[in-house]
Amino acid sequence: MCHKKDNIESRRTFIKLGLAAGCSAAVCGCGGNSITSQAEGETVKVLTPEGELVEVLKAQLTPLPEEELVSNEEARKGIEGRRFVMVIDLGRCNNARKCITACQKMHHQPEDKEWLQVKLMNDSDLTGPYWFPKTCYHCDNPPCVKVCPVNATFKRKDGLVLIDADRCIGCKFCMTACPYSTRVFNWYEPEQSEEIAHCASSPETSVPSQIGTVDKCDFCPDMVRRGKLPDCVTACPNGVFYFGDENEDIVTNGPETVRLKKLLRDRAAYRYMEDLGTEPRVYYLPPSDRVVDFDSGFEGKSEELLNRYKRDI
Ligand code: SF4
Repeated sequence: MCHKKDNIESRRTFIKLGLAAGCSAAVCGCGGNSITSQAEGETVKVLTPEGELVEVLKAQLTPLPEEELVSNEEARKGIEGRRFVMVIDLGRCNNARKCITACQKMHHQPEDKEWLQVKLMNDSDLTGPYWFPKTCYHCDNPPCVKVCPVNATFKRKDGLVLIDADRCIGCKFCMTACPYSTRVFNWYEPEQSEEIAHCASSPETSVPSQIGTVDKCDFCPDMVRRGKLPDCVTACPNGVFYFGDENEDIVTNGPETVRLKKLLRDRAAYRYMEDLGTEPRVYYLPPSDRVVDFDSGFEGKSEELLNRYKRDI
């Protein structure tokens, strides 16, 4: 079994979504949900079992131990009691692309394979442009899952839509069915180290990539199972991505932990192409009240990247 996150530094925070007893008895009586930060002495917000947000010192929290990957059967079920959700704040994105490179590093993907993209949006000549990060939306009514003839792609109870590469026959029906063009086909032998290429395949890691099969954003379920945030969330320098649990009504981008429903209501959130009935589990906050300047985001980038994004420049 390989561990794909060995080289990934756990940067700022992790969210312990009640998956293991980790917080001290002094904080919440154990077993409660907690959100911690790496900085020593820093206070962080913690969700108690009663659903109350309280502020504590990091020193009061106990890191989760490393865990083995779960069986494929468990990986198909998902994490009991959870309903994972993401919120993307368009007012904060300046195409720093740290989310993309972190995702590629996490999943051992080359630079030209992007499971997460940041697109340039400009709704009309009279309106301002903005950056639009685009993940798999882990739809609650996923057309990709319905068309798979071998049950290789599936929807879990906790909301995630994943792929079992060992089952995938490469028919690409799911790619055709997805209205968001979020899936990526491995036309050629993937560029990955021998070690990664030979590790045990798991729907929870999406590693290794296999020729003739489909890949996509997976919301880093093995990280989430260990109480950590997906890497795109922690890599973003602007706090664009909030991730959390709809059942707990809580999301965090690391430094900020907020109530999901209040955030969605206060910021008039929407879901992309909602009228398709796909019921995405990703919400967008409109790009009003920008906290970062709009930036071309492509200065100093390679010719290959500029060419790939030429429609956006
Ligand atoms: Fe499936 Fe596309 Fe929805 Fe992801 S965004 S769950 S690939 S339909």
